[in-house]
Amino acid sequence: MAQDDLLKKLISHSKEYGFVFPSSEIYDGLSAAYDYGQLGTELKNNIKSYWWAAMVRMHENIVGLDSSIFMHPMTWKASGHLDAFNDPLIDNKDSKKRYRADVLIEEHVAKIEAKIDKDIAKAKKRFGDAFDETQFRETNPNVLRRQQEIDGINAKFKAAMDVEDLDAVKQLIVDLDITDPDTGSKNWTDVRQFNLMFKTELGAVSGDSGVIYLRPETAQGIFVNFLNVQKTGRMKVPFGIAQIGKAFRNEIIARQFIFRMREFEQMEMQFFVKPGTQKEWYDYWKEQRIKWHNALRLGAENYRFHDHVKLAHYADAACDIEFNFPMGFKELEGVHSRTDFDLTRHEEYSGKKLQYFDPEENKNYVPYVVETSIGLDRMFLAVLSAAYQEEKLEDGSERTVLRIPPALAPVKAAVLPLLKKDGLPEKAREILADLQVDFNCQYDEKDAIGRRYRRQDAIGTPYCITVDHDTLEDHSVTIRERDSMTQDRVAIDKVHSIIAERVSMRNLLKQ
Ligand code: ATP
Repeated sequence: MAQDDLLKKLISHSKEYGFVFPSSEIYDGLSAAYDYGQLGTELKNNIKSYWWAAMVRMHENIVGLDSSIFMHPMTWKASGHLDAFNDPLIDNKDSKKRYRADVLIEEHVAKIEAKIDKDIAKAKKRFGDAFDETQFRETNPNVLRRQQEIDGINAKFKAAMDVEDLDAVKQLIVDLDITDPDTGSKNWTDVRQFNLMFKTELGAVSGDSGVIYLRPETAQGIFVNFLNVQKTGRMKVPFGIAQIGKAFRNEIIARQFIFRMREFEQMEMQFFVKPGTQKEWYDYWKEQRIKWHNALRLGAENYRFHDHVKLAHYADAACDIEFNFPMGFKELEGVHSRTDFDLTRHEEYSGKKLQYFDPEENKNYVPYVVETSIGLDRMFLAVLSAAYQEEKLEDGSERTVLRIPPALAPVKAAVLPLLKKDGLPEKAREILADLQVDFNCQYDEKDAIGRRYRRQDAIGTPYCITVDHDTLEDHSVTIRERDSMTQDRVAIDKVHSIIAERVSMRNLLKQ
């Protein structure tokens, strides 16, 4: 399926089955805002639980936090967001469309990278098992030339952004002959900076004194509570604080469904470490996080690391974990080594000490921080896009199936009486009542059984339990598995444990 088609299909499938709706749709929607429907909410909650279990429950030295969205405005001065949380913006004078200058340049680079990938794929095919990708990258003249071109562009872009030379950024766009992706026009305005924070007013105070901001990241709530948690939890460095919550950014362009929204949810963890050990912990968290992703089996080939060329003002190392979304490889998660920047700045601006007394070293210091930060909505989109499949079946019919990992599936099991009579519904409801205590289930007695299976496939339900006339005699049911569509006959008293074993998060967390 073409990737563009996939995104369109996901949007309509999400709406049709109650995963994601456009926000305030009866008023024609609000750009870049979405509501999660009945199934979307379940999927989102399951992703959160998986993250929380892996990060907090499975790590003795990581604890949770739920800090408020509103924070003292000085927070954002200290964190640098007021002065530097900007995106370079450029308009096309013909199409009147607005773009992020850095994204235009990144997309240009991605096109060259795609050419390298193509060369490699071709060579792989030609040389078979004997192919050595590293050697090919280091010696093939075409790849070398393209890589040199990429390095040159990245270096120029970094140099320009480091000194905020926006004219040089514009010049780079002109020199690279970058055109408006929609219309092909090259009629660009100058590049200017745009601050992404949403402003609002606190209480009845108007004017500048009452201005506060909606948090653009959850991390700052963690930093300002660093000592509260460390002291009350008697935490010893290294330790982490994790938080799931909403963040808000007035994105310049937000066009790709739930990939880029102006209100979204982050799952962030700040890990406080001894200065000098940050590189070790950065590597550790890169490995932990990719393990968390791989356990879901969305396809290891759908992930890659991307090191940042231009480091944010607070970082000494940073990379993205990119996912192969329907729009191509894009950032899903960031792992950032944030140094002692945030805590030091909060010390400076608040006048309060934010230091840790290290009993082993017998001294105080401001810990360094390694952060993992993943967008919950982007993770949701990653799961959906890897799960969505249209299949032709052996009997010639078709089905749309969401192969969502069972532990994340919104509905774990559907209980289906074969007929709406002869005591089958009553028996089915008995089974349902038992399963419901532990799992989100559905009961469905409408339409032919084949259609009911299709409906459950379309929402990713891993197991369908069918109650038929034999059930009343032999106390057994049929369990149909979503992906293989195989059906097994099992005793009713085994159903709960079978479902429990197969949909358990244990299977993910133990990997
Ligand atoms: P991008 O380069 O795509 O704008 P970013 O580098 O600004 O992202 P971070 O500040 O590292 O993003 O935020 C951490 C995570 O939050 C990202 O990896 C992403 O998953 C998520 N995120 C950031 N902005 C948005 C958004 N507008 N909508 C949805 N998720 C977002």
